[in-house]
Amino acid sequence: MAHSLLFIVVYLSTTVLLVPLLARPFGRVPLVISRQHHLGPQNVLTCLLNRNYVRPRLKEIAEQTAIEMNREFPGTEINYLDASFPFIDKFPLFPHLSHNDGKKLDLSFCYLDSKTGLSTNNTPSFCGYGICEEPRPGERDQPCLCGQQGYWEYSLMRRIVPQHLKARLGLNYDKIRYHGCHAVRHDDHIHVQLQ
Ligand SMILES: [Zn+2]
Repeated sequence: MAHSLLFIVVYLSTTVLLVPLLARPFGRVPLVISRQHHLGPQNVLTCLLNRNYVRPRLKEIAEQTAIEMNREFPGTEINYLDASFPFIDKFPLFPHLSHNDGKKLDLSFCYLDSKTGLSTNNTPSFCGYGICEEPRPGERDQPCLCGQQGYWEYSLMRRIVPQHLKARLGLNYDKIRYHGCHAVRHDDHIHVQLQ
């Protein structure tokens, strides 16, 4: 019991105090652990497992966007999901293929409460991943198409872009793109990355 307690204390102090300092030479900074300025982790485990490290520019963008979102849509908070580990480029953050350089950040969608129909800052899954928006009748069934092409890992997080969501929401902005079948499904969150 005493050993477990000691481990927890050492682990938490290292994570909170030491790792951010060691990450600096790698050009990475942690995103906030406790919610600030309408941005926070969807699950604090993301921070405790050191999966919340990004380039300073990406942190700035996330924080500024959260402030602007809340200004435009009062009450709206941004929940972030996985970013990168604090060290070493090209060291991937399982199960994400590309989260290996501090330039990638996953964000939760904003949801409507199924009971009230009102917007909520809660997410339907405890980790933010795995509850996907399925295609509606008549929409392109991307998960099925990728499965037929042999990309078994596509639906890994739920057996994890939302080609059909982009069409459904009428999004024409060219920076919102489909990631391809080789990645896991992204119709449960949005992936943001620096060029
Ligand atoms: Zn991602």
